Amino acid sequence: MKRIAIVLLLIASSAAAQSLDQMIDREIPSLLTTYKQLHAAPELSMQEKNSSALVASRLKELGYEVTYPVGQYLEPGATCYGVVAIMRNGTGPTLLVRSDMDALPVQEQTGLPYASTVRAKSQSGDDVPVMHACGHDIHMTTLMGTAKMLAQMKSQWHGTLMLIGQPAEEVVKGADGMLRDHLYERFPKPDYAIAFHDNASLPAGQVGYTPGYLMASADSINVTIRGLGGHGASPQTTKDPVVMAAQFINALQTIVSREDSPLDPVVVTVGSIHGGTKRNIIPDEVQLLMTVRTYKPEVRKRVVASIERIARGIAMSAGVPEDRMPVVELLAGESVDSTYNDPALTERIAGALTKGMGAANVVRIDPLMVSEDFGRFGIDRKIPICMLNVGAVDPAKIASGQRLPSLHSSGFAPLPDPTLRGAIKAMTLAVLEILH
Ligand SMILES: [Zn+2]
Ligand SMILES: [Zn+2]
Repeated sequence: MKRIAIVLLLIASSAAAQSLDQMIDREIPSLLTTYKQLHAAPELSMQEKNSSALVASRLKELGYEVTYPVGQYLEPGATCYGVVAIMRNGTGPTLLVRSDMDALPVQEQTGLPYASTVRAKSQSGDDVPVMHACGHDIHMTTLMGTAKMLAQMKSQWHGTLMLIGQPAEEVVKGADGMLRDHLYERFPKPDYAIAFHDNASLPAGQVGYTPGYLMASADSINVTIRGLGGHGASPQTTKDPVVMAAQFINALQTIVSREDSPLDPVVVTVGSIHGGTKRNIIPDEVQLLMTVRTYKPEVRKRVVASIERIARGIAMSAGVPEDRMPVVELLAGESVDSTYNDPALTERIAGALTKGMGAANVVRIDPLMVSEDFGRFGIDRKIPICMLNVGAVDPAKIASGQRLPSLHSSGFAPLPDPTLRGAIKAMTLAVLEILH
């Protein structure tokens, strides 16, 4: 009896999956048009005016209650183009599904017929090229496709679906901006939040899942090593910040190699160093721009404290006076917590995807040291979240062994048709699992 029930269940779930494939088939031509339209018209972070308007209008056409723009930045005068689209469908959990919308200052070199030639003014006023080099155009199109599937499948789920078009992910300000505008007071507070990112090394059609830590926290730190400048030929009259900066960079390496447990991943990178104007002048100061990546909050705190201690220690050993000690500045507005996938929710979604897409298409993947602000929607882990990775690469390219362009590179070109099919199917199945 039990075996018959299981067989019937399997037939029913594979029939449902098959009809989902057919439903996606019908939508793919128009979604591909939308994708190419978005790809050719990328907008920088905090400037997503047209992309968000398109997302809002498409979701409204599908019968969602749309509120737009939602969000508030700390920067005066900046509009936060967040989109909130709600579909209420009886009693059941509330599920947040998020897509980000912003693009990057990258000159596209893909050679695609729908490649971007857009230029825009950056926050600092520079004229820069713009490209969807992180695939957020895939994310927006998938949100629209998934919204359509779920609007057509209302008899198969119950609860409240809350779709989010999030701006300014690349500068980790959009999620914060939407929450600051009372997202969870003005709209239903979700019981779960899910999202996905396209992946530049997985084949299109595959989904990657990672229970627990998925992405690292990011801390942006500016360090000013201050000395006492003077003539380059009279170093004895100075405290040379260039020499101190060199010692500082070397000493930083011991944070990872000597202070940190080998089982706790940490990255400390100095990405920019500037000091001095002329070869025979010892400058007054040297500036270093750093990024720190960790998973655990306690490790993060300790690494930041180590940077301060090492900077101060080097200045002290050089005999720098107290009033010229280094300045270590943590930029809160450019820092973000790690992304922690709730293990139970992630395993549950992975199980549903395995059933609906086949075990070969659902793979467990390693965490990454890049960062994201999607975790903010989880409010310090009070709301379980899960972010999936969705393959975006032509399988033939992977098989050929050629070097694959990474996310943020000028050559990143997702293979749209199978990527969108895989992403829409995965997100629809994940929603059905949680709201079934
Ligand atoms: Zn991204
Ligand atoms: Zn990115």
